Amino acid sequence: MLIDTHCHLYYEDLKNDLEGVLSRANEQGVIRFICVGTNIADSKECLTITENNDNIFSSAGVHPHDAKNVSDGYIDNIYALMEYESMIAVGEMGLDYFRNISDPKVQKKVFRRQMGVAQDLNRPVIFHNRDADADVIEVLAEYPEVIGVAHCFSSNLETAKSFLEMGYYISFSGNLTFKNSHLPEVAKEIPLNRVLVETDSPYLSPAPHRGKPNEPSRTRFVAEKLADIHGISLEEIAKHTTGNAVELFRLP
Ligand SMILES: [Zn+2]
Ligand SMILES: [Zn+2]
Repeated sequence: MLIDTHCHLYYEDLKNDLEGVLSRANEQGVIRFICVGTNIADSKECLTITENNDNIFSSAGVHPHDAKNVSDGYIDNIYALMEYESMIAVGEMGLDYFRNISDPKVQKKVFRRQMGVAQDLNRPVIFHNRDADADVIEVLAEYPEVIGVAHCFSSNLETAKSFLEMGYYISFSGNLTFKNSHLPEVAKEIPLNRVLVETDSPYLSPAPHRGKPNEPSRTRFVAEKLADIHGISLEEIAKHTTGNAVELFRLP
């Protein structure tokens, strides 16, 4: 059994066919899901989606792309959302210097404030990092009590080691399966007790579905690739990654 630790189920294509999405996932052994918010409105939608399903959990946070649009009360909103039982992490938060949709200064400020919430509430974080390794490491280091996951990991081994040293988990998505990716070399070095799998649906569909809309059932392709890299069975990878997710997010 696998957990898709990062999906955005409130996107139209997924939300409108949620039953189908979940049953196709179940067929592939993907039975639990973390629906990740990228702004306050999305985070509320995640909460609505979890209401009718015990196997869906959610997170509340502001993505770096959305950092430029935050309203004055967003931190209060995150606190309020975190009171719900299905809310298991703060995020996604972080830095994205590849697209720089929000000014880096604003991204950092919004990232730090959310790290503060996680520290205050003693909750794990889900962070996004694209082309911002040094600054992400700098911010994480300011909150030594906080742990969480480097979602959709795409950096080098040195950065992975920095995250691991600070207590973070590393999550791989469909880009692990892409041809000529450097990520298998990195994944090989990540201890099995610190690795997670995700789809980041509807983005980043793994091979052989690259370029198509993604959905949680495809967590299985990521897990199979990871099993292959480590030379162990899919069952073993599932046991490790699911156990890690349960531990990090304190799932029931
Ligand atoms: Zn992300
Ligand atoms: Zn995401």
